[in-house]
Amino acid sequence: MDFDYDEDQVALRELALDVAGRVDDKYWQDVDEHHHFPREFWESLVKSELLGVSVPEEYGGSGKGLLDMAIAVEAVAEGGAGMEGGSLFVSGPVFGGCLLARHGNPEQRREYLPGLATGDLWAGAFTEPDSGSNITTIRTNATLSGDTYLVNGQKMYISQMANANRIVVMARTSPYDPGHRTRGISLLLGDLPSPAVEAKPFRKLGNNFMDSNAVYFTDYPVPVANIIGSEGGAWKALYDVLNPERIILAAAAVGTGTLALKRAIEYAMGREVWGQPIAAHQGLQFPLAEARVNLAAARLQVYEAAWLYDRERDCGVPAAMAKYAAAHASLAAADAAIQTLGGAGYIAESGVERHWRNLRLNRLSPVSDEMTLNYLAQHDLGMPRSY
Ligand SMILES: Cc1cc2nc3c(=O)[nH]c(=O)nc-3n(C[C@H](O)[C@H](O)[C@H](O)COP(=O)(O)OP(=O)(O)OC[C@H]3O[C@@H](n4cnc5c(N)ncnc54)[C@H](O)[C@@H]3O)c2cc1C
Repeated sequence: MDFDYDEDQVALRELALDVAGRVDDKYWQDVDEHHHFPREFWESLVKSELLGVSVPEEYGGSGKGLLDMAIAVEAVAEGGAGMEGGSLFVSGPVFGGCLLARHGNPEQRREYLPGLATGDLWAGAFTEPDSGSNITTIRTNATLSGDTYLVNGQKMYISQMANANRIVVMARTSPYDPGHRTRGISLLLGDLPSPAVEAKPFRKLGNNFMDSNAVYFTDYPVPVANIIGSEGGAWKALYDVLNPERIILAAAAVGTGTLALKRAIEYAMGREVWGQPIAAHQGLQFPLAEARVNLAAARLQVYEAAWLYDRERDCGVPAAMAKYAAAHASLAAADAAIQTLGGAGYIAESGVERHWRNLRLNRLSPVSDEMTLNYLAQHDLGMPRSY
């Protein structure tokens, strides 16, 4: 067992910290306040080649694995970009990169992987209003008409629709069969924008750097050549996207929690109200130290899950644990940071309340706490399936 970063990973972490550090907090506050996509930061991720870290070298990337992406994402978040910067890696490197690297055919890889290193932005449309966490019961369907699938249905809370130029849609290509729940699910890769796709954005608590929408597909055409894997047999491919999504968002959460801790400590060292820095009060130290313990544990779980994914071993349980541990550790860290800053922590300019609002999402999405624990009880503890 080796707990050291190798030389490339040290350099990757430094690069990611540096890229994130070039942007100040004011930038992220503006993004949050005006709800705009952080285009300049996205472009700096492209230019620094961080976005293509896991794209195979033959398609213009650095040819690294998910563990390296996790290291980069954690450092991007920790270096100042928080969940905003870290989550961006889902919108391409994960939705497109992980999917195509494992399940794309050679033509699809040639066509779409190079764009991931140069800034193609991908949306992933899985959740539906009626099926919610029970994703095998989705109703969006794709029917074949000549050499084109026509997609019809509604998706819910889908992010990045305003800026994405690609979309992966999970759709049924045959009706739900209670005896074989996962059969008949297909993944289709389409282009955006399209007159056949309407997106209606929601107002929300945080993560204002990305739009999240109710999405309506009406005869949305996807060429038959753009089905990923086999028709109706996408369940395995789906989890080769959903597991890395959990891992990468967990890495972003660990980095963001660490960033919030740093901000809290910096503030506590400088703020005096009883003739000495408030950092000297044990009552403030304990929650920060406890958050540090939980972030460190979550980080190891993230690395283990990513390491297993890179070896094509089953990473479902570690990915679920990583996501759960990181969601809770980072939220507690941001909460402790707000408490440390006192009234200032509640004020937007402090920057820490934004991290708390953004991190809160991780307890619900991409999979909720309850569904994560349901899964772990069944698959790790061997208890009866409860859902
Ligand atoms: C800001 C935002 C962005 C998102 N982006 C995307 C995206 O880009 N693409 C995408 O596909 N989806 C996206 N989602 C959707 C997200 O993944 C879902 O919201 C999440 O999976 C939960 O589904 P639901 O909201 O339908 O909750 P529901 O399934 O309705 O669950 C509601 C509550 O009931 C609990 N619950 C449900 N079933 C059980 C059970 N069996 N046992 C115990 N508790 C249970 C849940 O844990 C939850 O607390 C996004 C969501 C948000 C809020």
